[in-house]
Amino acid sequence: MSSPTLLLRLVCLLLVAIALGGCRSEPRSVEDAAAARPYPLLLISIDGFRHDYFDLADTPALDRLVAGGLKADSLHHAFPTKTFPTHYTLVTGRYPGTHGVVANSMWDPLRDQRFSLGNRDAVGDGYWYQGGEPIWVTAERQGLTAATFFWPGSEARIHRIRPTYWKPYAGETPHAERIDQVLDWLDLPEDSRPDLITLYFSTVDSMGHRHGPRADPVRDAVIDVDSHLDRLLNGLEERELLDSMHIIVVSDHGMSRVDFDQYIMLDEYLDLSRVIVSDWGPAAQIWATDMSAEEIFQALDGAHPRMRVWLRDDIPERYRFGSHHRVPDVLAEADLEWMISNRPYMAGRSRFSLLGMHGWDPALAEMHGMLLIHGPSFAAGSQAPAVRSVDLYALMNHLLALQPAPHEGSLSPFSPYLDAADAITVDTLELICGQQRDTRIKLRRGPRHLAVHDGLHIHVLDQSDPNGLLYAEAGLEVDMRNEPFTVRIDAEVWEDCLPGGSS
Ligand code: AMP
Ligand code: ZN
Ligand code: ZN
Repeated sequence: MSSPTLLLRLVCLLLVAIALGGCRSEPRSVEDAAAARPYPLLLISIDGFRHDYFDLADTPALDRLVAGGLKADSLHHAFPTKTFPTHYTLVTGRYPGTHGVVANSMWDPLRDQRFSLGNRDAVGDGYWYQGGEPIWVTAERQGLTAATFFWPGSEARIHRIRPTYWKPYAGETPHAERIDQVLDWLDLPEDSRPDLITLYFSTVDSMGHRHGPRADPVRDAVIDVDSHLDRLLNGLEERELLDSMHIIVVSDHGMSRVDFDQYIMLDEYLDLSRVIVSDWGPAAQIWATDMSAEEIFQALDGAHPRMRVWLRDDIPERYRFGSHHRVPDVLAEADLEWMISNRPYMAGRSRFSLLGMHGWDPALAEMHGMLLIHGPSFAAGSQAPAVRSVDLYALMNHLLALQPAPHEGSLSPFSPYLDAADAITVDTLELICGQQRDTRIKLRRGPRHLAVHDGLHIHVLDQSDPNGLLYAEAGLEVDMRNEPFTVRIDAEVWEDCLPGGSS
C-alpha cells in the first residue's frame, strides 16, 4: 500500500486544477497546490435500499442529507440489477457489457473460468474488471489518494492500481468499525488523507432477500444503518468537514417480492448437460456448448408465458447490455416476481428461504435504487427526477477535478445543479394517451433530463433539444414539440398523448 510522492501529487493537482477548474481556489504556485485539492468525496452504498424505503422509518441521518443537498426520485441502474455489475457501472461509468462484470456469477469463455462473488480468488483477480476504470484508479493515477471500505472490484489490481487503502471483503465487519475507519482516514495528515473514500453496508439487502421488501427486519436494518450514518455525520460536523466535503449515498438496486410458486424450471425445456448456464434468478445467462445458440433460443422461445428469451444481438436496445465476450449467447428473463431455476436446485429449497430478489429490467420501479448528494456544490433542498447510475462516474470526476477515463455516461443531467445559487426542483406533467384515453404517463422533468413513469417502469431520457421538448435514450423517445405528443417505449408508440395536468 504505497502512496505517490508528495511532489508528484502536488504537480498533478496543479495541472488538473488548471485544466478543469472546480477546485477550492485557483493555485498560483506549486506551494498553493495543496489549497487546490478538491473537497474529499465519500461514496456510500447501502445495498438493496429501494428508492421507496425512505418512508419505512425515521431516518434522521438520511433526512439530514436530503434536507441539505440533492435527492433524486430514484436511481436507474444497469442490467442486470445485481450487486457486482451495478456497483462496477457506478464507479466506471460503463455498462456491464463494456466493463465486463456482467453478473454476480459469470463465465469467461476465453479463460474457460467462472467468477462468483463468493469466490475470493476471482473477486480479487483484476482480470475480471479490466474493461472499466474505476474512479479510485482514475484518482490514484492523477495523484489523488483513494480508500475503500469495501466496493466490488476494490480488492483487485485494475490497470495495475489498487486504492492506497483497501480492505478484503468481510461482510461481518461491525458497522461501527467501518464508521471509525472512515473518520480515522479523514483525520490523517494532509499528505496521506484520502480524497476519495467508499463505504458499503449489506444488511438492508440481506434482510430484503430473507423477509421481502419493506418487511419489518428491512426497516430495522435501515434504522441501524441510519444510526451509524448519524454518528458519521456528527463526526464530520465536529471536524468541520460536513459542509466542506461531498457525500454521495447510493444503493445498487431495489428489491421485489418473489414467490415459491412462481419458478420457471429451465430443465423442463432444455437439456442442461448440453449448455452452460452461468447465472440464474430473474434472468438466466446461457451459453451454447453442445447446442447452438439458435437451438437454445428455439427451445426456450414461447416455452413459458412468464419468460422472454433473446439471442445476444436481439437483447432490447435500452438494456444496453453490450458486446463484451462475457455477455452470454442467450438471455432469458422472467417477469417481475418470477424466477428462473431448475428442478435439482429447487428440490432442497424451503418455501421461506427467499422472499425478496432483484436482477430484472432496470427500468422496473422496484429495481430502482436511491441517490442522495450532499456538499458544497449542491444547494440544500434540491430535487432531481430519476437519474442514471452510469452518469455518476462523470459527476465524481468533476467533483474531484479529475480527467475521466472513457465512459458511457454524461455529466449533463447534473450540470445545472452544480454551484446553483438556489435549489432546483422538479416539475410533473401528466400525459393521457391511447385511443381509450386509459394510458397515463407521468413525466418528471429536471433542467436537462426527464423521467417517464408508466406504471411499472421509470425510464430516464436525456434532453436532446435546446427547448426541453424532445428527450431520447436508446429505445425511448418523448417528443413534445407538437400536440399531441409522442411517447415511444421499446416497440410501443403512443402518438396521441395530451397533457392531463401539471404541477
Ligand atoms: P446481491 O444479492 O447481488 O445484492 O449481493 C449482495 C451480497 O454481495 C452481499 O450480501 C455480500 O455478501 C456480497 N458482497 C458485496 N460486496 C462484496 C465484495 N466487495 N466482495 C465480495 N462479496 C461482496
Ligand atoms: Zn446488491
Ligand atoms: Zn441482493
